[in-house]
Amino acid sequence: MKKVMIIGAGGVGQVVVHKCAQLPEVFSEIVLASRTESKCIAIAKQVKETHNRDIATAQVDADNVPELVALLNVEQPFMVINVALPYQDLTIMDACLEAGVHYLDTANYEPLDTAKFEYHWQWAYQEKFEKAGLMALLGSGFDPGATNMFTAYAAKHYFDEIHYLDIIDVNGGDHGYPFATNFNPEINIREVTAECRHWENGEFVETPAMSTKQEFTCPDGVGSFNIYRMYHEELESLTKHYPTIKRAQFWMSFGDSYLKHLEVLQNVGMTGIEPIEFNGQKIVPIQLLKELLPDPSTLGPRTHGKTCIGCVVRGIKDGKEKTVYVYNIKDHQDCYGEVQSQAISYTTGVPAMIGAKMMVEGKWMQDGVWNIEQMDPDPFMEGMNKYGLPFKVIEEPGFELI
Ligand code: NDP
Repeated sequence: MKKVMIIGAGGVGQVVVHKCAQLPEVFSEIVLASRTESKCIAIAKQVKETHNRDIATAQVDADNVPELVALLNVEQPFMVINVALPYQDLTIMDACLEAGVHYLDTANYEPLDTAKFEYHWQWAYQEKFEKAGLMALLGSGFDPGATNMFTAYAAKHYFDEIHYLDIIDVNGGDHGYPFATNFNPEINIREVTAECRHWENGEFVETPAMSTKQEFTCPDGVGSFNIYRMYHEELESLTKHYPTIKRAQFWMSFGDSYLKHLEVLQNVGMTGIEPIEFNGQKIVPIQLLKELLPDPSTLGPRTHGKTCIGCVVRGIKDGKEKTVYVYNIKDHQDCYGEVQSQAISYTTGVPAMIGAKMMVEGKWMQDGVWNIEQMDPDPFMEGMNKYGLPFKVIEEPGFELI
């Protein structure tokens, strides 16, 4: 039983608080800290009504290391679950080191002025965490997170060597808006407008954003969707930790309306991340756009349909080629019924809770900085089945992918 501090009271933070609150025998005390404390208080109230648990709240600017260290010293949690924004990863890691607290996140560090999605900044903390006798677990959301575990699970139980990896993220949900994003709009748009990179024969190959697409039919009646190849951060860590992979690609579904709006917004400069001068003030176009778009945490009641996210892994077992598909399907309205949130926040928040549980229980506890696929996938996969994201495995699914 340990005390945890969750940083970030957004869509994902809300789910993590609910899911941790459901397990008092693991998370004995929960502190929710964020930039705007009123959002923490609103979540705490919801959790009190649903689970009759008291959640402590605090205001903190996680960009400010001394402020965060002071809070950590007062609260003395066992670990921080970082579900603020990727910009805060390094300052939160610094504060954890100073206060002697373990660390977990769901997205890799990004500098504000370049949409880079690279792990080297966080991997550079390996020695510091090791020397401090602390653990940092990177990428414990769905993608990255569950997708890394699906790959590790397939590699462990179904293959001698894995050669081809296709991560396919389908959101078959509809919120009824012509354009909205399912998680933080700024982070989401930076990700989907970035140049595409996929791994092929030992290097990353660049292609223009959204230039390669195919149709994918999800199992279990979820439907058929256009999926587009794009860069996603787990490609970097998975190809490093599974060097037998010859090609790794990430695919995400987008509807025509989303793509049409995105193209126009890009063409008129609204997705830019460089500050511009407006009426004597500096504004960043994408940050203004975020203010105009629906808040993702309000999409829950109006989103219907299912997500279907999984990994198609091809490789060799006993000298023979084989293909395995590991996936989860989640219904948006089921998530809303349970934690008052849509499935994108849910599918991120549940693996964050499971990763934290693994650390609290000592099942995953080793000094240093680790990507999630470096841990044993089995207890995590058990947790997926138990805590709301059951997975399925299809051997030889018969997909014909590019
Ligand atoms: P939101 O924008 O909804 O929430 C972010 C929260 O962080 C807000 O409450 C915000 O405060 C708070 N915050 C921002 N800056 C600071 C700061 N300097 N100090 C303290 N708090 C701060 O984002 P989401 O909940 O949608 O996403 C959270 C994280 O999850 C992101 O890093 C995102 O990339 C990641 N993610 C990962 C996924 C995965 O599968 N691995 C999928 C989806 C998201 P305020 O309320 O004041 O704005």
